[in-house]
Formats: sequence, C-alpha cells, structure tokens
Amino acid sequence: MTDSKNSKRLIIGLTGGIGSGKTAATDLFAAQGIDIVDADIVARQVVTPGAPALESIKAEFGDEYIDAEGHLNRAKLRALVFSDESAKQKLNAIMQPAIRTELLDQLNQAKSPYVILSAPLLLENGLESYCQRVLVVDVPEALQVQRATNRDSVNEEQIKSIISSQIDRPTRLTKADDVIDNSGSLSELKIQVNQLHKKYLTLADG
Ligand code: ATP
Repeated sequence: MTDSKNSKRLIIGLTGGIGSGKTAATDLFAAQGIDIVDADIVARQVVTPGAPALESIKAEFGDEYIDAEGHLNRAKLRALVFSDESAKQKLNAIMQPAIRTELLDQLNQAKSPYVILSAPLLLENGLESYCQRVLVVDVPEALQVQRATNRDSVNEEQIKSIISSQIDRPTRLTKADDVIDNSGSLSELKIQVNQLHKKYLTLADG
C-alpha cells in the first residue's frame, strides 16, 4: 500500500489533538525550510471547483451541495453527515482515497531533506503507514480546550466533543517516536522543534 519504505525521503508524521499546536510546530519546521504536507489543506484542495472528488460529491448527494460558483457548501454537507451515518460513510469513501492520492503526490514532490506529513487524524486514519517516524505534539486536555476556545469561536463543549472523537492522549503517546511537550511558551516550542530538526537532518542523511 505504501511506497514510503522504498522512498529515499524521510517522512515524519506529525499529529496531536485539536489545539495542541500542530500548526504552531509545523510553521517552525517550515521556517527551517522543511516542506509540510498538511492533511487539512489537502482535504480542502481535493474539493476545489472542478476536482474529481467534488464531482463525485455532486453525483452522490445532489447539486444542492454545490453553490453557484461551483464551491462545496461545507456547512450543508457537515449538517447532513452529522445526522446521517450512511451519508458520512459515503462521503468518507469519496474523500479518503482522493486525500490519500493527493497526499502521496505532495509527499513525492517534496524537495527538503525530510518532509512532514501533518494530520490531526494521522493515527485514526492509518496515515502513519506512509511515515518512518511519528511526532506527537502533546498538551494536557485543559490546555487544549483553553487554546482552542481562545482561537476559535466555539465553546468548551464543542471542543470537548471533538477531543472525545479523537484518539485518546495515552494511546496517541504510545504511538509516538518523538514527543513535543507544548505546555510551555512558544519559545520553548521553538527550542524543541529546532532540536528535532537537527535530529531529523541527521536521520535523513544516514
Ligand atoms: P487544530 O487541530 O485545531 O488545527 P493545532 O494543533 O494546529 O489545532 P494550533 O492552531 O497550532 O493547534 O494552536 C492552537 C492555538 O494555541 C493557536 O491559537 C496557537 O497560536 C496557540 N498556541 C500554540 N502553541 C502555543 C504555545 N506554546 N503557547 C501559547 N499559545 C500557543
């Protein structure tokens, strides 16, 4: 299934719960010149107007999920799959293969000495099979809730419900080859990223 084992480029899978600091961490790796493939961004790219996955969504769910400019009506689709398990499975059957293909394309096009695959659901969706190492960005749940609610206009209950839909913290940590403790300041995060960057450069060289 994966060609990562045969590929020369080192792929680091980066994950963590909502609000753990994945983007803050990947921004710091990117500042060191490292290519980032972000599963959230890819999930949006595969449904841009005219993309095959969007055409499949239109065929499966109807024209009413596409607006006049050809964009996906995310809110309407989110509401549907929230209340309809079979619609959710159909949507996943369209999205998951499209996302995987695009992720692999972007990973293959990466030019930096190693590349980071960042995905909130890296472990839940088995994307770690494309990676040689798993890097977990870890914070206590209370801090996740605090940072995510400060960032987004959502309430504590919504964040907690997303946390409970994700892999639990102890299990996530058992899958980690490396862990960033992001319970401190942004400058403490930067120190850890820079240390890992050096380590990954050495691993990529070997
Ligand atoms: P999501 O899964 O929801 O996309 P994420 O894991 O990418 O979240 P970020 O968006 O990077 O998380 O971080 C969540 C919020 O916490 C942001 O507003 C970010 O600026 C802030 N943040 C991240 N790390 C720190 C830190 N060490 N100190 C203070 N604030 C931080």
